Order: sequence, then C-alpha cells, then structure tokens
Amino acid sequence: MKIITTEGITKKYNELCAVDNVSIEVSRGGIFGLLGPNGAGKTTLISMLVTMRRPTSGSAHVNGFDIAKQPDKVRRSIGIVFQDPSLDEELTAYENLELHAAMYGVKDNLKQTIDEVVELVGLKDRLHSIVKTFSGGMRRRLEIARGLVHRPTILFLDEPTLGLDPQTRTAIWEYIKDLRRKYDMTIVLTTHYMEEADSICDRIAIIDHGKIIVLDSPSVLKDSLLGDTVTIESPQAKKLAGILKKTGIEKCTLHDGKVTFCVNSGEKRIPEIIGLAKDRRIPVSSVNLHKPTLDDVFLHYTGKTIREENGSARDSMRMRRRAMGK
Ligand code: ATP
Repeated sequence: MKIITTEGITKKYNELCAVDNVSIEVSRGGIFGLLGPNGAGKTTLISMLVTMRRPTSGSAHVNGFDIAKQPDKVRRSIGIVFQDPSLDEELTAYENLELHAAMYGVKDNLKQTIDEVVELVGLKDRLHSIVKTFSGGMRRRLEIARGLVHRPTILFLDEPTLGLDPQTRTAIWEYIKDLRRKYDMTIVLTTHYMEEADSICDRIAIIDHGKIIVLDSPSVLKDSLLGDTVTIESPQAKKLAGILKKTGIEKCTLHDGKVTFCVNSGEKRIPEIIGLAKDRRIPVSSVNLHKPTLDDVFLHYTGKTIREENGSARDSMRMRRRAMGK
C-alpha cells in the first residue's frame, strides 16, 4: 500500500526550480531515502510533504490526506525531525518531551509513552538531565524520540546524522531500523551520506537539481551498473588483456601496467583468469576487485560524485550550529 504519493509536485523560488515535477510513491512500512548533494531539493520536497511549504504546482497525499486541503490531518499523521536543532536547552529531556506531547494533545499514558520512546533511543538514564549537558548525538536521539511521542504513522528525518561522528552515526542508524521493526512505521529520510542510504534504506530516490534521477532499492541500483570492476597488475598487462578477450571480456583498459575490466560476479571470475594467466606464464603482481557502491551509481546517473558537491559552507555552518545546540 502506498502511504505517500506525489503527482508532479513542483516548488519554485522565483526563477529557481528547487523541486521540479516530482512524482514518487512510498510504500507503507519502509525506509525511504532521498539522496542528493547540497541544494538538490531534498529539504524543500520534505517541507512540502509535511505542509510547511506550499507547492507551486502539483499535488501530494500523505497517509491518504491531501497536503493542500487537509494539512491538519497530515500533521497529525507525521513526526518531523528537522536539520536545525529545536530542543529547549534549559529544559530536561522529559520536559521537552512533555511540551511536545502537550502541543499534540497527548494525555493518555504520557509517562509510559515517554519511557518507551526514550528507551528506544537509549536515553532512559538521562531523562531528567538538562539538555544543554547533552552531546550532539544525544540531542539528535532526543529529537528523534520527540518526533515519536504522538505515535506518528510516518516519521520524516532531514539529514538525521549530519555532522555526527561515525560511531554515533552508526548507533542512530540502528535506532532508526529499530523504529521500523517495533512500530511498523514508515520512515522518510534525506541524506547526502552514501553509506547511510545504503545501510538503512529499502528504497532510494537520487535527486539532483530538483529532479528524481532514479528510484529503486540500493541493490537494484548497484546491480544496474555494468558489474564489478577488476584491476589486475602485471608486467605483461597487454598480453593479459589479449587473453581476457578469449574469455569473452571484450572491453578492457590498459593503464600503468594494469588491465581494468568490468564483469558480473568478479570474485567468481578472478580464479579462472588467474589460472589462465598462470597457464600462459604471465606473472600477476596484484588483483583488485571493486564492487559498485552508491557513489558509483550517483556518478553513473549524474556524471559527478556526490563528494564534489559536499562539504559546503552551508554544511559547516549547520554542523557548528548543531554542535552549539543553536
Ligand atoms: P541540503 O543538503 O544543503 O539541505 P537540499 O537538497 O535539502 O540541500 P534545499 O534546501 O531543498 O536542498 O534547496 C534546494 C534549492 O532551493 C537550493 O538551491 C536552495 O538554495 C534553494 N532554496 C531553498 N530554500 C529557499 C528559500 N526559502 N528561498 C530561496 N531559495 C531557496
């Protein structure tokens, strides 16, 4: 069942088309990732789905509700964790959660609900500590817990691990996966971290310049490339390339005493190729196998790597603000 659908949704800021005619469907119960570089339109798309921005044209339904005609119903169905920190520093974790619950009119079993959500993000021990004493990772986890207090059907996370250290990032991925398992929740997240999208998302939409470039599961996206890249180093690389042709590998590149080619299931083909080289007395100095990553997928579909676009001043500023809790 589709829990989110968009039909040609578009957002223009004067001349700039931040989200350009996007039509997507998100299935219930999955983790859906919007992956793209800075300025690709991820936040703008999410902002429209959570009814914080109005589309210039097109439409969308979230949990069956029209974002333009039933914004209140949409809001009641969703939890949001935005990039910029919005916790009250001077309050305890409990008080922050209580405040959020009051805003959403959650009264029944409040203490039990709060206990449950803090348990889920591993903050039970710090429930009554003041937020300004929390680390960046703890604040992030508390923000996720807060997004869950009113039991949303869909949780939107905008760059959930931006600026966090690798260990904390991995821990947050586990909390997010747990949420889906325990609450059968649909999660939509934006990220420009390839490993994040690869590790936790069931489906990924790659977005660039406001357009969805490709949408599928990480494994299908990776398999859609030409296969694994194998590089064999040999003092007789040219001769080796000639032999490869006989095994059906037509296209290979010779460079710096190495021969590089693409094959499916590279790990299975390597022993055969090394055996052939041995039979012809062609020495092999090294073998390298590279499985396609989402980086390769991004490069394939957009013609550039996502890293070329990141590390922007905008990110650094956000990370600093987040670290300072502002
Ligand atoms: P990031 O990873 O940096 O958050 P993003 O993919 O979320 O990037 P958006 O924040 O949606 O991208 O921005 C998409 C484009 O729209 C960018 O070119 C941005 O500068 C522009 N933009 C975003 N908000 C506004 C605004 N309020 N007014 C004008 N332009 C805007």
